[in-house]
Amino acid sequence: MLIDNHNRKINYLRLAVTDRCNLRCNYCMPSEGIDFVKNNKLLTIDELSKISEVLVGQGIDKIRITGGEPFVRKDLMVLLRKLSALDGLNDISVTTNATLIGPYIDELKALGIKNVNVSLDAINKETFERITRRNQFDTVHNNLIRLITEGFNVRINFIVLEGQNEQDIVPILELMKHYNVSVRFLEEMPFNGGSKSFVGIKWNYKAILEHVSTTYPNFQKLESPPTSTSINYKINGHKGTFGIIPSFSRTFCGSCNRLRITATGDVITCLYGKPKANLRDIIRRKNEVEEVQNAILKAVGNRAKTGFEAQEEHASTIFDNSMTSIGG
Ligand code: SAM
Ligand code: SF4
Repeated sequence: MLIDNHNRKINYLRLAVTDRCNLRCNYCMPSEGIDFVKNNKLLTIDELSKISEVLVGQGIDKIRITGGEPFVRKDLMVLLRKLSALDGLNDISVTTNATLIGPYIDELKALGIKNVNVSLDAINKETFERITRRNQFDTVHNNLIRLITEGFNVRINFIVLEGQNEQDIVPILELMKHYNVSVRFLEEMPFNGGSKSFVGIKWNYKAILEHVSTTYPNFQKLESPPTSTSINYKINGHKGTFGIIPSFSRTFCGSCNRLRITATGDVITCLYGKPKANLRDIIRRKNEVEEVQNAILKAVGNRAKTGFEAQEEHASTIFDNSMTSIGG
């Protein structure tokens, strides 16, 4: 079992499988993309699988596949097949922009993958295409509805962006009224690869909640698992729920159960901190399970207590990295 130096149990791994993406969301990276790493710096499927196996042996029971866009990786299903055969791994989930997932939906279902998070920051086509800088709205919308109707447990991630999509907050709730989906509104974080200057946010969780309550005054707060990053609510008469993730305000650090591994093998114990080890280098140098285990134990044993403490690891308050490298 992995317990950090603040007595938090770590059982959830966010595993990035690539830093590449077919969209260019303006809160995530510049229009020209970031300096994507060379192919040989990315973890191979065998390496991703080996690292997962070691971590599951250490008590990780939930793995979320992220990126970049996981489905730009042509061999993704090979990894998912391997993961689904791992004893002790109870939950494999995927975070995706839903542009490329269509052909894989049947196999995902067959593998028992139930939880899919879809990033959708607008319900208006023009707004969506302005934010993502690509014209994929119809594909995303179709795949989203297919995932829902095929019975996946779908959560929509919607980042509230000042001056860009606040007018879509209420319409997305309205659209999802008849679907058993959770729409989660996220605070924007400063990891945009230098695509725009970031001073702070107007749309913090309080502002989002106030905005929702002007249209829907009747909603109830729901009980959420202690490790949940979202505060969840149900609107009277709506089939689904909505939630708010205070990712910039960071009110959830006390119960954080997550570890992140980037597509290049960096171990990240807090989104706001610096990498603590590189597993790719260890594996390629030694290929020894014990070395990987020790690197994880050391990283987990030196975790910052909060995102604000982790942020102090950086010399400046400006983050020049992108979520496509970290994995969200
Ligand atoms: N491409 C996939 C997708 O968009 O769902 C997976 C990777 S993406 C980096 C993972 C999550 O990070 C997405 O839900 C995305 O909305 C979120 N994200 C990216 N940049 C962000 C930012 N600056 N602030 C908050 N969340 C961000
Ligand atoms: Fe790609 Fe996801 Fe970043 Fe959008 S948020 S650019 S879909 S990695």
